[in-house]
Amino acid sequence: MKKTKIICSIGPATQTWEKFKGLVEAGMNVARINFSHATLEERKTVEGLVARARKELGANLAILYDTKGPDLRTCSFVNDSIELVKGNTIRIVEEDLQGSGDSGRISFNYRNLVAKLEIGQVILLDDGFYKLIVVAKEKDSVVCEIQNAGVIKSRRGVCIPGIHLDVPYVSEKDKEDIEYACQMDGDYLAISFVNSAENVREVRDLCRQYGKPNMPIVSKVETQYAMDHLEEIVEASDYIMIARGDLGIETGVENLPLYQQRMIDACHAQGKGVIMATQMMTSMKHNIRPTNAEVTDVSNAVLRGCDAIMTSEETTIGEYPVETIQMMSQIAVNTEKITKYNSKEYKLLGTDIHNTIAKCAVEASKDLPLKAIVASTRSGKTAMDIASLRPNSLIVATVLDEKVARSLALKWGVYTKVVSSLTTTDEIVDSGVLATKEILDLKEKDLIAVIGSYPMHEHTNFLKIEEI
Ligand code: PGA
Repeated sequence: MKKTKIICSIGPATQTWEKFKGLVEAGMNVARINFSHATLEERKTVEGLVARARKELGANLAILYDTKGPDLRTCSFVNDSIELVKGNTIRIVEEDLQGSGDSGRISFNYRNLVAKLEIGQVILLDDGFYKLIVVAKEKDSVVCEIQNAGVIKSRRGVCIPGIHLDVPYVSEKDKEDIEYACQMDGDYLAISFVNSAENVREVRDLCRQYGKPNMPIVSKVETQYAMDHLEEIVEASDYIMIARGDLGIETGVENLPLYQQRMIDACHAQGKGVIMATQMMTSMKHNIRPTNAEVTDVSNAVLRGCDAIMTSEETTIGEYPVETIQMMSQIAVNTEKITKYNSKEYKLLGTDIHNTIAKCAVEASKDLPLKAIVASTRSGKTAMDIASLRPNSLIVATVLDEKVARSLALKWGVYTKVVSSLTTTDEIVDSGVLATKEILDLKEKDLIAVIGSYPMHEHTNFLKIEEI
């Protein structure tokens, strides 16, 4: 059974029940709603589809909301687009040209930025496709030489490598969206363009104010500045998303392999979750099969112990969204069969009794051919602890409510079953066996480890190896 989780970004290509159901059946664990693109109507459509999938398919399907973040964009243009002619110059001005930018003069959506630009600075427009170089600096503007030709539309993304945007991290729009995610009882909140632990703490405080103090936060690392502050961001976050799109534009795609390894290592070392994102199966936007390189990329993410892999345009606007997820699931399952996770790499911080029990269960999975480690867990924490150590066996979490089950939807190797409150150790073990039988084909003499707490309300404090 697949241990690596799959996040699907949902968009126009997957907003019908038929397609959405196809994604769930193919292996989607988390549906992503991107606040940068999704209108209120689209959000409602996706939330309706998620609710239907939970009800009709019994899917433990979670929602991840994703903020826009403080992204830098061009102003809008007179005719909604401008032509860039190679070798020509274009002026970037400090004043806000909103609506009146043209092929001679443009501005950005943040003030006090032009003064930071020096001669020789590279400026990338529209997902890095167009390159400008500053060749002259004047009062309140810079002149740039256009390095390659093309047409860009209004309000396209801008990347200025090496320049740190000194603006408030949470914009008014993000604040409204974070409040919306909390009101809708979202299961995860991804935050874009995080640059420091302070940014993460600010969002946590907002979630607390909006009544969701335990909202799991996924920090998207997509700038050089964030890479330079990686350890503190990992420490402050629940998950890191390796947001390769924007990161590659700013730092150069040739640095991505190194940076993604660093992020994975940092997350494993702190027992935090990690998600590989962007362009995993891009060619499947238009093709029924992926390229060999894409297959290897997905497989590598699995080999390196990522909790989850994510799709973007493949499932928002692609022609083969369901086939993409079928393929990713198949690659994950095939790769997991041959993967032996290096136990030295995976850390579980904490030395309380429940941490120790989790470590013992994972050790047991190395000595014994355990079919599953079953965690009877109120908060989901013990199942997360076990998953952080990447045991050889599947993890089954028996939980008391669906919200806790969804908080485990993104975690590597965890399958969940909602059970009623259990009072004795025998009941805990029996319900663990039953839950595992529903998920796995258990046979006589198979072994499972069950961990739980007795008396109730205590943290996990016992481990039992059960022979079926
Ligand atoms: P996005 O983030 O999908 O919000 O752009 C992912 C990335 O930049 O890789």
